[in-house]
Amino acid sequence: MIDNAQTHSLARALKQAQTLDNNDPIAHMRAHFVIPKQANGEDEYYFTGNSLGLQPILAKEAVMELLEAWGERGVKGHFEGEYPWLPYHEFITDFASQIVGAKKNEVVMMNSLTVNLHLMMVSFYQPQGKRCKILIEDHAFPSDHYAMTSQLKHHGIDVEDNLLLWQPRTNEELLNTDDLFALIEGHSDELALILLPGVQYYTGQVLDIAAITEKAHQHGIKIGFDLAHAAGNVELALHDWQVDFACWCSYKYLNSGAGSVAGCFIHEKHATNTELNRFAGWWGHDKDTRFKMGNQFHAIASAEGWQLSNPPVLSLAAVRGAYETVILAGGMKKLREKSLKLTQYLRALLAQELPNKIDIITPAEESESGCQLSIMVTCDKLDGKALFKRIEQQGITTDWREPNVIRVAPVPLYNRFEDCYHFVRILKECLQ
Ligand SMILES: *Cc1c(COP(=O)(O)O)cnc(C)c1O
Repeated sequence: MIDNAQTHSLARALKQAQTLDNNDPIAHMRAHFVIPKQANGEDEYYFTGNSLGLQPILAKEAVMELLEAWGERGVKGHFEGEYPWLPYHEFITDFASQIVGAKKNEVVMMNSLTVNLHLMMVSFYQPQGKRCKILIEDHAFPSDHYAMTSQLKHHGIDVEDNLLLWQPRTNEELLNTDDLFALIEGHSDELALILLPGVQYYTGQVLDIAAITEKAHQHGIKIGFDLAHAAGNVELALHDWQVDFACWCSYKYLNSGAGSVAGCFIHEKHATNTELNRFAGWWGHDKDTRFKMGNQFHAIASAEGWQLSNPPVLSLAAVRGAYETVILAGGMKKLREKSLKLTQYLRALLAQELPNKIDIITPAEESESGCQLSIMVTCDKLDGKALFKRIEQQGITTDWREPNVIRVAPVPLYNRFEDCYHFVRILKECLQ
């Protein structure tokens, strides 16, 4: 039972949430999304924007327009209409470059995330003599781990000896940058490539991309980032940070629909080098001569030079509408401003209402965290997975990650402070 004093503190928290929502300069953006409903007809409390973002109305409209154009125009749709398909990916370049802090010639929307990682490895993992090791973090997303090990094998390089893992210290969850720097220094002339996440998917820890990139480059090591959990979540300045390459998916914080077309960043200093080794396809060929159908490949002198196929425009349409929604909200700076307040409100309320029952493993430091909080249940009455199921029955959508974490990600585009309040209220009721 929740006693009187507790009821009061929750009532105060609700008031505070409502005031924050009333003063939220981008509260109107929620109306640009389709919010799933609970069985009782109320909006779900949706906290899984870190896994699959909700549907933006603009994305739906862009897909419908594309279907119409296909029906009306057939093959002529490649050249006609407001958004002809031949250059369709170009209509997204400006949005994408703003979202990740890049120049327009450094970004392209193509393929899916893991495919792009492999394509980037072809260009940026060039083992030579002793310099053939790859460094990743110990708890890397499985797909990234598989991509790296299969690349080593592809080059005939022994995985055991040549895949270095940056691990948290014993009994710690978070990665320590000093340990990474020690690893880099200890293997500085053996490392060919470093691949790290911008935001670690399990803990929500944000890495210092600028400092890590600088360190890698001091030792002549190429470095790429997987921004699956960073793009659309935190502010990025990939060009200024001198990152060699980066890949991200568009269906998490960028709301472009499951499996949608992914993004790829290649720093200008490499993107303009048409001689850089790559796997080639006709869509990466110089646009002026592409349809001359010759046998000699001439790469486009930008990130577009890595494209393989003519793009899947249905999926790109969703990306266009979704990215435009981010820009409509005022871009990443505006989203981040709200995100910091939203996640801080949630964190503070959890600490106030559930002391000693849960542990938040995500760093508290502003510069080291994004939307997501990763919650470990320490109260031994209930295991984490059972709790996750119980709150789900009350209209809360979060996600469970083995071995023991509930991930909650209030996102600034469509989550309200009041959603965070309900999350804590329901979690508390389920833990009583
Ligand atoms: C979500 C995610 C993926 C998913 O890869 P796909 O190729 O889009 O299926 C890969 N890596 C990381 C770090 C992720 O968070």
